[in-house]
Amino acid sequence: MVDFRRVEPIFCDSCGKNLMEGVSEYSALVAWKTNEDGTVVEDIYFACKGGECDQKMSAVYGPTSWEDISDLAIPAVFINWMLSIMTKLHDGHTYSDKAFEKIILLAANLSNVVTREMTEAEEKRFRNLQEINNY
Ligand SMILES: [Zn+2]
Repeated sequence: MVDFRRVEPIFCDSCGKNLMEGVSEYSALVAWKTNEDGTVVEDIYFACKGGECDQKMSAVYGPTSWEDISDLAIPAVFINWMLSIMTKLHDGHTYSDKAFEKIILLAANLSNVVTREMTEAEEKRFRNLQEINNY
């Protein structure tokens, strides 16, 4: 289980830049490659947007769907995106292990941007829940 508060940042898969720095500046994207009918996410990459990295990655991956990481960092967009992923999983869509690992990494990183700090009582409760449950 990923501890979202201690998660490693996401990096550009081309140049290695930390994409969580300046996450609101519309300078990074997440792209995913699916199978023909769109039900299997085969691979996912992160890249600096609108430059060499973007071009290099799309040359390797071919056509993909993509989102601005800055859009996903908007709280309401983040929640809608998570709900849409959950709905698709329920409908039988799947991810390759690598793609799922990357989407979890991105979601964990964005959680730190879109959620508020916990109160001391919530923090304590969270620690208790972690001991009892598997989260
Ligand atoms: Zn880059």
